[in-house]
Amino acid sequence: MTDRIIPISDWRRTRPLPQWGESGAPARAGTDTLGRALRDLRVSVTDRCNFRCTYCMPRDVFGPEYPFLAKSELLTFEEIARLAQVFRNHGIEKIRLTGGEPLLRKNIERLIEMLAQIPGLDLTLTTNGSSLVKKARALKAAGLNRITVSLDSLDERTFRTMNDADFPVSEVLAGIDAAAEAGLAPVKINMVVKRGANEDSILPMARHFKGSGHIVRFIEYMDVGATNGWRMDDVVPSAEVVRTVGEEMPLEPVDANYAGEVAQRWRYKDGSGEIGVISSVTQAFCRSCTRARLSTEGMLYTCLFATAGYDLRAMLRGGSPDGEIAGAIARIWQARADRYSEIRTAETAGARKIEMSYIGG
Ligand code: SAM
Repeated sequence: MTDRIIPISDWRRTRPLPQWGESGAPARAGTDTLGRALRDLRVSVTDRCNFRCTYCMPRDVFGPEYPFLAKSELLTFEEIARLAQVFRNHGIEKIRLTGGEPLLRKNIERLIEMLAQIPGLDLTLTTNGSSLVKKARALKAAGLNRITVSLDSLDERTFRTMNDADFPVSEVLAGIDAAAEAGLAPVKINMVVKRGANEDSILPMARHFKGSGHIVRFIEYMDVGATNGWRMDDVVPSAEVVRTVGEEMPLEPVDANYAGEVAQRWRYKDGSGEIGVISSVTQAFCRSCTRARLSTEGMLYTCLFATAGYDLRAMLRGGSPDGEIAGAIARIWQARADRYSEIRTAETAGARKIEMSYIGG
C-alpha cells in the first residue's frame, strides 16, 4: 500500500449526535443558522467506481489495494428508504443517488422502486454512463425521473486520459441515447473543466449537444476530498466557459428553474437549447444551499466539503425510532453553519475533507 492511501475509516470523523431534554426534539428541520431550508438529499450508494478520474479517484490512491467499505458497512436499501421517508417528512423534495458509481450497486433498480413509493419525491441519479445502455430502461421502469451523465470530453484521447480506465466516448454517448429513448430526457451532461486537461473540449461539447434537447453543464474543478492535488490555477472559471461558447454560439442568461438551483442557465439565442455552468469556486452558492448528504455508510454531512459527519447508521442499527432520528436530523440542520466555498483559501483546500466518492458527488 502506498503512503498516499488513507482508508476512509481513518479519515472519517464523527460529530456527536445532538441530544435534547424535556422540551423534546423538534419535529421539523426548519431552517439552519443562515436561514436555509432542507430541500434535497444526495445519497451515495457505493464508494466504488469503475473509472479512476484523475481529479476524483486518482489511481495511485484508489488502487487495487485500496480498502473500500465492506458490504456490511453500507446502508441497506431498507435503511436508505427508511431515512428517505424521514427526510421527506422534513420537507425534502428531491433525492439524487450517486457515489462512487451508483449503477455498480447490485439491484439498484430495487432501491429506486422503494424510493419511488414515497409520494412527492423527484428521483434522480448521477452516473458515468458506462452501463446505461444495459440499464436505462430498467431504471426508468423502476421509477427514476431524471438522469445526469458525466462526460468530460468527446475527444477519445482526452476522455480516456481523464477517466484513466480506457473507457471509450462512444459507449457513454450510446448510454445517453439509451437514457433518452427510455424516457429519461432531457439528459443533463456534466463536464468537469480542468485547465490543461480538457478546456479544448468545451466548444466541441457545446456544438455536439446544441439542438439535441440535452443540457451540458460545465463544472468548475473543485477541491473536494484531499487526494486530487487541487490548485486554483487548474480552475477554468465559468465566466471563461460562457465567453468561449458565446463567442461562437451567442448566449443569453435564463432565470433559475427553482430557488437554490446550483447551475446558472444560459440559452442559445437561436432557440436551440441551453447550457449550464456550476461555479462552486468562482461564484460560491453556499447562501442558497439546501442540500444534505448521506454517505455510503450512513453518515450525514451538511456540506460537500465537510471534514466530519453524524452517524445516522448508529441510530438505525441501535434501534432508534423514526421520531428520534427525525429529531436528530432537525437539530443537526438547525445548527448548520457551513459555507465552505465562500471562505475557501489555499489553506482550507488542504484540509482533511471527505472524498467525493464516499460522500456522494
Ligand atoms: N460516478 C458518477 C459519475 O461519474 O457521475 C457519480 C459520482 S461523481 C463523484 C459525480 C460528479 O462529480 C461527476 O460529474 C464528476 O465529474 C464530479 N466531480 C468529481 N470530482 C470533481 C471535482 N474535483 N470537481 C468538480 N466535479 C467533480
